[in-house]
Amino acid sequence: MDDLEFLILRASEIGVELDGDTAAALLTYKNLVLSANEKFNLTAIKEDGEFIVKHLVDSLLGASEIPFGARLCDIGSGAGFPCVPLAAARKDICAVALDSTAKKMNFVSEAAKSIGLGNVSTVAGRAEEQKNLFGAFDAVTARAVSSLPVLLELAIPLLKVGGVFIAYKTDDGELEISKRALSELGAKCVNIKSAALYGGDKRTVLVFEKLKATNPKYPRLYGAIKKNPL
Ligand code: SAH
Repeated sequence: MDDLEFLILRASEIGVELDGDTAAALLTYKNLVLSANEKFNLTAIKEDGEFIVKHLVDSLLGASEIPFGARLCDIGSGAGFPCVPLAAARKDICAVALDSTAKKMNFVSEAAKSIGLGNVSTVAGRAEEQKNLFGAFDAVTARAVSSLPVLLELAIPLLKVGGVFIAYKTDDGELEISKRALSELGAKCVNIKSAALYGGDKRTVLVFEKLKATNPKYPRLYGAIKKNPL
């Protein structure tokens, strides 16, 4: 089986149907990440098959949770995960990759353009400082960025009321320590989707809905969020 068939099969196993052009575009994106990775650090995963499963397919685990036509913000997007695979598989959405490292956002912007994705834009900056983006999104995603209580404080302010935060985690263990954050921020967990990636790694996508407007005291400055999470 070649990489194209492998990606299409592994995606369909998690319920995402990729057409040949989309899968080919994502494989080109993989190659762009791997060659940029020689110049600056984007990923520890360098083997093609592992990259396909742990970056491309893993990113697609949240695809079914995004409302149709959503404006989506991916916090701490790094090399564009999960937002680039999501935007490729869901052409109806409009995705903003947000990361504090400008170099990574320059890469994502160029690489997304070069695979023909017109629905990805980038913002270089810290999530908690994007006041002009608060209340602007129908969906927010984050993978491998921070603990759940910290992430909730970064993500919920960016959402419209009724919008969803999709947190990519290994399991649902952090829900216990996130109760206070959820009540302070006015959000609740509405879905927990567990899956095993090809090869056996466990993954859980946690979906939270924003129930009411965020108290303007949130998000706090990053130092305070980290030092004293909700
Ligand atoms: N989501 C990607 C990258 C994870 S690494 C993936 O799953 O592969 C975490 C990234 O989050 C880093 O690129 C870091 O620059 C970014 N980051 C951490 N805190 C942030 C914040 N408060 N605002 C924006 N980006 C942040």
